[in-house]
Amino acid sequence: MRSIHDNLQAVKARIASAARAAGRDPGAVILLAVSKTHAPALIEQAFAAGQCAFGENYVQEALDKMGALARLPLEWHLVGPLQSNKTRLVAERFQWVHTLDRERIARRLSEQRPDAMAPLDVLVQVNVSGEASKSGVAPREAAALAQAVAALPKLRLRGLMAVPEPTDDEGLQRARFREVRELYESLKHAGLQLDTLSMGMTADLEAAIAEGSTMVRIGTAIFGVRQKVKDAA
Ligand SMILES: *Cc1c(COP(=O)(O)O)cnc(C)c1O
Repeated sequence: MRSIHDNLQAVKARIASAARAAGRDPGAVILLAVSKTHAPALIEQAFAAGQCAFGENYVQEALDKMGALARLPLEWHLVGPLQSNKTRLVAERFQWVHTLDRERIARRLSEQRPDAMAPLDVLVQVNVSGEASKSGVAPREAAALAQAVAALPKLRLRGLMAVPEPTDDEGLQRARFREVRELYESLKHAGLQLDTLSMGMTADLEAAIAEGSTMVRIGTAIFGVRQKVKDAA
């Protein structure tokens, strides 16, 4: 099995060649390492190889890892669903939330973000796969939610995030990512200051980068296949 260091290099090479193929600057695509289900020791190996930003899906699991790795200057992103009973922990411990899809959750996060901390960086999650996904706001409702989130004092709206349903059809992958990017552009035209389009995972990062992704969320290609994925509920 290859080391995490080698896996990270291989992922960065994929990102760079996808960016170049799209005529984009490879430096314009940030790599978020999604470490859900993987032990703190593996995160430490990734950190030793230069990776600082990590994504987790489950709040309690993330808090355990933050505790175990408190001596390292890591940046934590929540990429899984957020229930209202967990907002305080998230507001106090994370730097980013990728999965905002309700104004009520956004208000709670803003109220609960400690004054001493910088505003929480947030992305509105958009559901571009219709019925197939329960998470994310419908595209036609994204603008209203984005405007409401942008007005909250302790949140900083950075852009949009999407997890299209998996498909091997690259044309379909690109069509879904394009829909998100067009929504992102329309929000910028409406005056929102956005800089982040979080889309692309191990299986579809090339399509996402071709359609303008600025942050890819990669788990399997860095840490290997996950043993068992807990139910996200
Ligand atoms: C698990 C997960 C990822 C990483 O997926 P891989 O296919 O392992 O790269 C990215 N984004 C979200 C929201 C996830 O839940």
